[in-house]
Amino acid sequence: MNFDFQGHRVHDYRFLSKRWLQLARKARLHGLVYNTADEFELLCFRSPALQSSGGIYLSAGIHGDEPAATEGLYQWAELHSSILREIPVMIFPCLNPWGLVHNRRTDSENRDLNRCYHLDDIPQITAQKELMRDYRFRIAMCLHEDYDAQGVYLYEVRQKRSTLGRELLAAAGYYVPIDARRTIEGRRAEQGWIARKINLKKFPFIAEAIYLAFNHSERTITAETPSEYELGPRIQAHIAMIQRAIELSFVIW
Ligand SMILES: [Zn+2]
Repeated sequence: MNFDFQGHRVHDYRFLSKRWLQLARKARLHGLVYNTADEFELLCFRSPALQSSGGIYLSAGIHGDEPAATEGLYQWAELHSSILREIPVMIFPCLNPWGLVHNRRTDSENRDLNRCYHLDDIPQITAQKELMRDYRFRIAMCLHEDYDAQGVYLYEVRQKRSTLGRELLAAAGYYVPIDARRTIEGRRAEQGWIARKINLKKFPFIAEAIYLAFNHSERTITAETPSEYELGPRIQAHIAMIQRAIELSFVIW
């Protein structure tokens, strides 16, 4: 598959979900349609190795104009299809299919779903929370892209555990330069790494990563590639960050 071909179809949700379903069958993952949004089925895949604690959470596509994230997550899984069963993952391949199809950040009702995890009236988010309810994850990764980015960067929620951010950036930096700005999105950054302590009282809304950090995950990463950069390397950068996080998950504590 060459990058031009991907470039044409990275916004094709039916193509993406068809490939995921084929891959899940081949890798013998547990897949389910946990909700629908507009006419699209929302998918979740769990490896048989996933237990109630110590797993790895991966999601992409909550913003539909960030196609290297959804494509990178799929290609990472495809690359590891023969061992995916043994990696304890819970995967949400695309949280906003309507957005992906229309190349829009928001859903069809113009909501930024990544500002909605404090709400109880969005059925797809309620259904996702219900699915995650009994899990504690060692690592959670939310994959994104940023139109204004000048390179790859990431947010890491500062929790009690050792951090991963710099290692993931080193892996991604092989494909896409690291965003060297000292301030990114109004926050202090250190070679692309934005480590944040979260004070919930200061948040007017709850993003997916914050919800995860406060309820489910020991380490929480929001990875961002620059969406104006070439598609192929952005996809590779996401694959590299996921890959590195999985490798580290075997050695960290
Ligand atoms: Zn995003």
